Amino acid sequence: MTTCAAPTIFSTARCLARSAPRLSAASLRFSASSIERQQRRRLHFSPESAKQVPDFAFAFDIDGVLLRSSDPIPRAHAALDFLQKQSIPFILLTNGGGKHEADRVAELSDKLQIPLDTSMFVQSHTPFADMDHYKDKTVLVCGGDGAKCRHVAEQYGYQTVITPADIYVANPDIWPFSGALHSHYASFARPLPSPSPKFDAIFVYADPRDWGLDLSLILDLLLSERGQLGTLSPLNGRADLPNRGYQQDAQPPLHFSNPDLWWAARYHLSRLGQGGFREALEGVWAKVTAGAELQKHVFGKPYQSTYEFAEKRLLAHRAALFGEHAGARKLSTVYMVGDNLESDIRGANGYRSPVGTQWRSLLVKTGVYQTGNALSVEPTQIVPDVFDAVNAGLARSKWRVRLEE
Ligand SMILES: [Mg+2]
Repeated sequence: MTTCAAPTIFSTARCLARSAPRLSAASLRFSASSIERQQRRRLHFSPESAKQVPDFAFAFDIDGVLLRSSDPIPRAHAALDFLQKQSIPFILLTNGGGKHEADRVAELSDKLQIPLDTSMFVQSHTPFADMDHYKDKTVLVCGGDGAKCRHVAEQYGYQTVITPADIYVANPDIWPFSGALHSHYASFARPLPSPSPKFDAIFVYADPRDWGLDLSLILDLLLSERGQLGTLSPLNGRADLPNRGYQQDAQPPLHFSNPDLWWAARYHLSRLGQGGFREALEGVWAKVTAGAELQKHVFGKPYQSTYEFAEKRLLAHRAALFGEHAGARKLSTVYMVGDNLESDIRGANGYRSPVGTQWRSLLVKTGVYQTGNALSVEPTQIVPDVFDAVNAGLARSKWRVRLEE
């Protein structure tokens, strides 16, 4: 564990750079500003002995754990407030997205009445903030409301961000079934840099709203010659090439931020999420290519890359919280509190930490999982809600006090 020499904003930022060398400049900007805010809020903690530094931490899913739709779940405030008062580090790790981290954190802080910070927050597309090699390239950004995800990508530092709406407004014939949405798209579309731009990457930031348009455009680019919109690769279907020539012609890599098939919405039945859109694309792709593999990168829980990213954020947050004392005790356990077996629980159970931290999974019953549902994966413990999940973690790590009603 790296230790920091002095608990100033600048030395702590340098410490973050050493302890999390793969965090990008953008991540460090998040962290440095968060440290300033934390110091203003006097969250910085100076333990008198190493024993006061907890060797455990929490990671909370948001939807179905802290909020249901946008309403706070009872006792969520009490659970987080207790952890902050005890200086027990936690992060929020969600497959949600569609807004910049700063906006989402401000909203959550207000709803939960808890001071939160971007350094404690990882949403599905946060890892895209670290993909510096695409930032001076042309990327297609799909999903989310209006132009919100374009703005998120631009805040991450991406310079040329095109949305499906931009392409549609420039050429409505590209997907004639979205005619009823033309004025909506025209309200936020931007002119294309050229009539048939060449794309270097495709990102699905959040759930697509207009599946037909987004699916068609992604399909077009995956079948194109070197990512040029409106072209078809001559390599498609060539039996002598890998994957029968599909995605072998420098087409833009495809990135999904969230694998969830379902999410718990206000409606009483779970709704299809971004994973549903991906399955639809996979189905069409299989039919169009007669069974070629769809090559793609999927981020979000339960994938190792997202947990690894989250752990780096947690270690950086812990370093900021405890300053020079952070290294007094190694972080040994992280309790992942979630409502979704396939993302939260499977991800925590399967995660292999490069720094040797053990992740344990605590399943709550306030969201997707309900009593009686089949257990496709076994959590470390099942508890009624987030309040009891925190107490379960405190008991397992033998912390000196418990949450009380
Ligand atoms: Mg959830």
